[in-house]
This record gives sequence, structure tokens and C-alpha cells, in this order.
Amino acid sequence: MAKILVTGGAGYIGSHTTLLLLEAGYEVVVIDNLSNSSLESLRRVEQITDKRVTFYKVDLREENKINDIFTEHEIESVVHFAGLKAVGESTEIPLDYYEQNVYGTLSLLKVMERNNCFNIVFSSSATVYGDPASVPITEDFPISATNPYGRTKLFIEEILRDLSVSNDKWRIVLLRYFNPIGAHESGLIGEDPQGIPNNLMPFVSQVAVGKRDKLSVFGNDYDTVDGTGVRDYIHVVDLSDAHVKSVEKIKEFEGVSTFNLGTGNGYSVLQMIDAFIKETGKPVPFSIEPRRPGDIAECWADASLANQKLDWKAERGLSEMIKDTWRWQNQNPNGYDN
Ligand code: NAD
Ligand code: UDP
Repeated sequence: MAKILVTGGAGYIGSHTTLLLLEAGYEVVVIDNLSNSSLESLRRVEQITDKRVTFYKVDLREENKINDIFTEHEIESVVHFAGLKAVGESTEIPLDYYEQNVYGTLSLLKVMERNNCFNIVFSSSATVYGDPASVPITEDFPISATNPYGRTKLFIEEILRDLSVSNDKWRIVLLRYFNPIGAHESGLIGEDPQGIPNNLMPFVSQVAVGKRDKLSVFGNDYDTVDGTGVRDYIHVVDLSDAHVKSVEKIKEFEGVSTFNLGTGNGYSVLQMIDAFIKETGKPVPFSIEPRRPGDIAECWADASLANQKLDWKAERGLSEMIKDTWRWQNQNPNGYDN
């Protein structure tokens, strides 16, 4: 069976995708510098699947070491998650974001080209749609960026488009994620944010487990169903499954293929809090605070293209996303740091 290189495979989405790739029968080689993750995630992936992962603690920018890995293993395709991902932090240390995300990707692509590996699935984001003119969002909407993190995604997408023109051997899949939440049903792997979570659901579950006093709801004066921001939350296992489908089908595609990964449903912050309380029975104290700079009112996907071309659809509803988020948080109140 083919070998797949997963960059950032110890992280939140990478560990779930590694698990599904192993279950689908692929051999998986993971590279990660562990800057935002722990090796414990992959140990648990091995425990769940009873299969082995080949792991290298390497930074994307270490071109020679990555080249050695390509020499050692015959890699058929790369699933590229590694990078920095905090929007707020990216406005404070933009050069780190450009270096790790953009330069790191360039170094990976050079090594791939040198080793005749031309198949790559890249983690892009719905953030490339900026403030969309309407919802639902289709892949042909104009793209823009409002912060350095988003701009790294946009630049990498453009670099990959240029690359596909330079050599028609490239098979490139750009996956634009909406809002991944949830965890594997075992409760053994999940999202383990360092410090104060930026995203809504990790914050809500840390309040519910007693690690934080209350949630700040950023703005209730948006033009939405109840004034709070609306997003398309998608179960991380559904999201990961789209990567397995992309790896399976990548050779049938030519050049660059771009897919939205969402459910097509939007939920407001207050609807998410209500659903969380209903599913878990835990109180979630919150206060209404000013809008968070850079936030948009609503954002949800038209994911029909992924359905047609990848034969993929999000299967898990909100209740499952919340139950799985909570099982992980409740069983691992300190994440992997026990
Ligand atoms: P994560 O931080 O859990 O995983 C990223 C992994 O990459 C981590 O394990 C980290 O240690 C590793 N890494 C970072 N920089 C590296 C480098 N220079 N060299 C080697 N390894 C490095 O994040 P995630 O939520 O799993 O996100 C994965 C990808 O999906 C990222 O590219 C992110 O931008 C993208 N994405 C995430 C979301 C989200 O909400 N989680 C939404 C859209 C897109
Ligand atoms: N949000 C919130 N409080 C928080 C974190 C997020 O009210 O502590 C809101 C945020 O304003 C947005 C929604 O929850 O409307 C989703 O935010 P998240 O950061 O999870 O995702 P993104 O902004 O990237 O879509």
C-alpha cells in the first residue's frame, strides 16, 4: 500500500487524519516539530488502530532532513497540515507566520519536486473568502485576506497554482475548511490548545469542565438570527475523511482542485451554547462583550462540489460534534498533559 507523508500529523486535524489513513490501509509517515502538539497524540492513534506510525521530529524548514525522509521512504502523496494557525498571533508576529507557513511550504515543495512526488493535499481555510458578499459560499467566490495568517493561506494557494502551471505532473487539492470541532469517538484524541483557546468550542468546553470562569460572546449586534456570529461547524472526523477521499482520488484530478469542507449549516454562538448545555447538562456562564476585531457576521459553505468530485459528505450532526468534544474534554481535562 502506498506511503503517505503527513506534515503536522501530531496536531489536531493531522492526528485524526493519520488515524483514518491507517484504518484505510495506508502506511503513514508523520513529520512534525511538535511546536503545538505532543507525541502522545500519535501514541494514542497507534493504540486505537493497533498500527504503527513512522514519526520524525523535523521542522518543515529543514529541507535536507526532509529530503532524507523522501530518500528513505517512497512517498506517493503528501497531506500538508503543518503550520501556525492563530489569527491574533499572526498580527503580532507576521514574519514567523510567513517564514513557517510560506517558506516552510516552499521547502517541502522543493523536496517533493526533487523526489518526483507531485501529489499534495493542502489545508486551506474559509478565511480566504474574507468577508463574503453572501452565503452559502461556493469555491468560485473571490478570495482575499484580512490578517497575516489568512494571507499565508492565500499565498500558498497561489504558489500551488503557479506550480501546477509549471509542470502538469502536479496534482494539487486545496481543502478550505470551515470550523472543525469535535474529537474521535474514543475520547482518546482531540483538540489540545496551548494557553487560552482562541476558538469558540474549546473555550466553551474548558468553561464547562471548570478550567475557565466564563465565556465571552464577541458581539450580539450582527445581522444574524440572534445577533451573534454564525459559522459552519464540521466534525473533525468528517473533515479528516475528506482527506482520505482526496488521497484516494488525487490521481484522477488534473492541476489544482479546490473544495469547501463544511456541512452547509450555520449555527450562531448562542445556538452553540444552548446545544452544548442540552447535550452535556453542564452550565456555560457567559457575558456579551464587544465584537472581536476582524470577525464577520456569517459564514457557511456550499460543499456540493466536494460531494460530487470527492464523493464526500459530512455525516455527523451538531449533537455528535458536541458529545465528542465533551467526551474528549471530560476524559482529558488537561489535554495530553496528564
Ligand atoms: P495544529 O496546531 O493542531 O496542527 C499543526 C501541527 O503542525 C502541529 O502539530 C505543529 O506542531 C506542527 N507544526 C507547526 N509548524 C511546523 C513546522 N514549521 N514544521 C513542522 N511542524 C510544524 O492545528 P490544526 O488545527 O490541526 O490545523 C492543521 C492545519 O489546518 C493548519 O495548517 C491550519 O492552518 C489549518 N486549518 C485549521 C483550522 C482550525 O480551525 N483548526 C481551520 C482552517 C484551516
Ligand atoms: N467566539 C466567541 N467567543 C470566543 C470565541 C469565539 O463569541 O471566545 C465567536 C466568534 O466571534 C465567532 C464564532 O464564535 O462568531 C466562531 O469563532 P472561532 O474563533 O471559533 O472561529 P472563526 O472566527 O475562525 O470562524
